[in-house]
Amino acid sequence: MKWISTRKSSPPVSVSQAIDSGLAPDGGLYVPEFFPKTSTQDFSYESVLAPFFESDPLFQSLSEICSKAFNFEIPLRMIRQGKRSYGMLELFHGPTAAFKDVGARFLAECQSRIHQDPRTVLVATSGDTGGAVAAAFHRRPGFNVIILFPKGMVSARQQHQLTCWGENVKAFSVQGTFDDCQRMVKQAFQDTWWRTHFHLTSANSINVGRLLPQMTYYAKASLAYQKQTGQTPGMIIPSGNLGNAVAALWAKECGYPIHKVIMATNANRSVADYLSSGIWKAHPTIATLANAMDVGNPSNMERALHLYPSIEQFRKNVASVSVSDEEIRQSIVEGYRNGETWCPHTATGTFALNHLPSSESHPDWIVVATAHPAKFETIVEPLIGSSVPIPPSLQSILGKKSNFEEIPATLEGLKAKLV
Ligand SMILES: *Cc1c(COP(=O)(O)O)cnc(C)c1O
Repeated sequence: MKWISTRKSSPPVSVSQAIDSGLAPDGGLYVPEFFPKTSTQDFSYESVLAPFFESDPLFQSLSEICSKAFNFEIPLRMIRQGKRSYGMLELFHGPTAAFKDVGARFLAECQSRIHQDPRTVLVATSGDTGGAVAAAFHRRPGFNVIILFPKGMVSARQQHQLTCWGENVKAFSVQGTFDDCQRMVKQAFQDTWWRTHFHLTSANSINVGRLLPQMTYYAKASLAYQKQTGQTPGMIIPSGNLGNAVAALWAKECGYPIHKVIMATNANRSVADYLSSGIWKAHPTIATLANAMDVGNPSNMERALHLYPSIEQFRKNVASVSVSDEEIRQSIVEGYRNGETWCPHTATGTFALNHLPSSESHPDWIVVATAHPAKFETIVEPLIGSSVPIPPSLQSILGKKSNFEEIPATLEGLKAKLV
């Protein structure tokens, strides 16, 4: 299997090369040259992923990579709501209590097999990615991690998860926005001194090493739902940069029983506007209660548009619901009345379930729960009037000592702390 660039002017590469380079040399994103059709009704991680690793050096290690990366539960619970029921796919049982753990752990296992010499993972984070990457690479021989996060713009518990590791992980609070952090990372990757001095490698969400493993839970959940009910579920996915939603579309293209993908967004409604107007236009980012989805210009849209180039194809496979902060609050309160506690991101998904566009009459849906509500307790607890129990993995992280340094939003500022 070869991987090609969405912009079509880079040579095809193997999956290891695509994972190693992140972005294609022409600035495009790597996508598989075709989607291997599945023939199995029985799920295994290897059966989903093996076709994408065929003829690659990592193929031999795939089953070991899977067993090390996928070491926590991803339960599909059926929830009754009045007369109907729906599936809830809980992706938040990993070490940092958000779905980013799945991609980060798989990427780390791949990276440690691709590189023989030491590497530095440089990552900008708006909240959840940095913690997941730190947890996945902490104490991993041959790797250092540098995390940049925007000062004062992540939740207290998110910040703790970014700053509690020590040893091979260093965290920096940047006097600027997430965009500043991302700009610094981009500049470092374009700078010969930075690239060669630190042997930089990237772990951002456009890396196929993060997208591929996310396909596995959609394959598994759709097969399980079908086995249990005889029906084909659609997936409702709280979305920002659209990596998780594209992984679901890739699983659908491989033939797993997925009806349609609903991209539930917060007030950042670029995708919803595209679906109604047929003209793709990124918008400036708006800050919302679901901060991990505050993206006005989602990078994985390029992959979605590569997959479905015409608006008709896009509408056939994708719908979107944009959810305001007030509707997020309303959804959390209503869920709690039904015995469920959701994080603000998951709440966009449950709101979308109850407010699907009138064209969507399909009865079977799985909503994806992307983070544990205890990570966003300052938003959730006042709404439900009760405290959210902290899961053990998060508890043990919160018990560690936090340690970070503050820097101005420049590479010079970062360099001064490192050399
Ligand atoms: C990253 C994140 C999202 C958005 O996922 P994308 O793949 O960027 O669309 C949603 N919810 C949570 C909790 C996240 O951390």
